[in-house]
Amino acid sequence: MRVLIVEDEAKVASFIARGYGEEGIESLVASEGLEGARLAESQSFDLVVLDLGLPGLDGFSFLERIRAAGRGVPVLILTARDSLPDKVRGLEAGADDYLPKPFAFEELLARSRALVRRAQGSPSPVLKVGDLQLDQRTRRVRRGETEIVLSNREYALLEYLMSRARCVLSRTMIAEQVWGIVFDTGTNTIDVYINYLRGKIDAGHELKLIRTVRGRGYCLTDEPEVKRLVGGDEPEVKKLVGGDEPVDET
Ligand code: CA
Repeated sequence: MRVLIVEDEAKVASFIARGYGEEGIESLVASEGLEGARLAESQSFDLVVLDLGLPGLDGFSFLERIRAAGRGVPVLILTARDSLPDKVRGLEAGADDYLPKPFAFEELLARSRALVRRAQGSPSPVLKVGDLQLDQRTRRVRRGETEIVLSNREYALLEYLMSRARCVLSRTMIAEQVWGIVFDTGTNTIDVYINYLRGKIDAGHELKLIRTVRGRGYCLTDEPEVKRLVGGDEPEVKKLVGGDEPVDET
């Protein structure tokens, strides 16, 4: 486990670093926001412990910057500012937890471990395919600069398609994952929802991300052709894409 500590108070930073060290946890200290952001963007960490009041780039700007850069690393805000608006703003900006100063190191340690455990069990909260972005934390969806408003079911469907981007997903897989049931083969519910999504995600864009793979199901991809995706390393995909049926790119 490797932690980035972004904290300008040397005493606090070394107290945390020493505490982690005694637990066999490696840490690196950045005493300034911009330096911290550069480290978070260029190196791999399991956790960031972030002070809000920082020289250079403050904690909120740090968070916005690393999230915009697609860094899904868990962030624990550690600050003297124990006010509700700051806490809410921090969590909205993409922090995962919040601990007001003064704090007991044991509590920081327990929360650190919990955050890392949680993150290791779940993928990055921002899914990206081409210029389409879905933030699993805020449930916001954007294509380019345009924010897209989805119903709960449309969101769940898009989240599943994006989490398995470039894979061909059968209607059965989609029904199980998104609706939690298997439909009668005659039902066209999935196709109806796919069309809703197309209207919101792809309409007006030259590159259509949601593709129909005839006889197989659907695939969300930013690759120009679905055919190039054949031979993915996921077993169910191999099963689905083994034949040479023509690919219908609608
Ligand atoms: Ca500070």
